[in-house]
Amino acid sequence: MKKFIIALIFLIIGCATTGPGGKKSLILIPTSQEVQIGKEVARDVESSEKLLNNQTVQNYVNKVGQKIAKVCDRKDVKYKFKVLDNKEINAFACPGGFIYIYSGLLKIFDNEAQLAAVLAHEVGHVVARHSIKRLQAIYGYTIIMEVALGSRMGKTARQVADAATGLILQGYGRENEYEADNYGILYAKKAGYNPKAMIQVFEKFKKMEGKPPSAFEKLLASHPPAKDRIGNGNKQIKKIGGTNLPYYENEYAAIKAQL
Ligand SMILES: [Zn+2]
Repeated sequence: MKKFIIALIFLIIGCATTGPGGKKSLILIPTSQEVQIGKEVARDVESSEKLLNNQTVQNYVNKVGQKIAKVCDRKDVKYKFKVLDNKEINAFACPGGFIYIYSGLLKIFDNEAQLAAVLAHEVGHVVARHSIKRLQAIYGYTIIMEVALGSRMGKTARQVADAATGLILQGYGRENEYEADNYGILYAKKAGYNPKAMIQVFEKFKKMEGKPPSAFEKLLASHPPAKDRIGNGNKQIKKIGGTNLPYYENEYAAIKAQL
């Protein structure tokens, strides 16, 4: 019976689109549960961090993020982009499309395209369901049974959210980061931004890598070395083009002045 239920669930949930070109992966956690987990994680984030108290900046970042969301390969979640009042150089994506960027990172950008590129990288993690894939590896069976039994996740929601927070803090593996970079470069271009902006951001990270760890915070430090991301990014840009697209410097300068 158990086996039958699991087979049935595999059929129902089965394959989801997790990247450009109709790329598919086996996803056991349905979007509704992913969003529930994401909401818990977002609540943790917003209770331990402070949101930036500037509605103009919040709206601007969200507006740029929504342009990326519109062209990405995953439309079954509602993306939310928020700025945290924190001087660290950081950004991350929670399951379910909750994306956060630190004001410290906003301060190092010179144009809107750089912001779009970083947000697009984070959207890439959501599209590829990187956190969900890792959670599946840990909780797969439990989650399948929860779904099979029609439970609303009750106790495990908290447990899974804690694990998700842990995973986000650790950062993803190298392969996941390259994948998010590639998707990000593509989405930034599709949204009308010069994809070279992603390389500009990596160049900034490269300069920071030489400094003591406190200057280059844990999350971005867990990514592959900037030098390698530049190489990979340039290859992707060569493939997709778009280097004649604008960067939107003036639009960004007006926002940066408020930080
Ligand atoms: Zn990443």
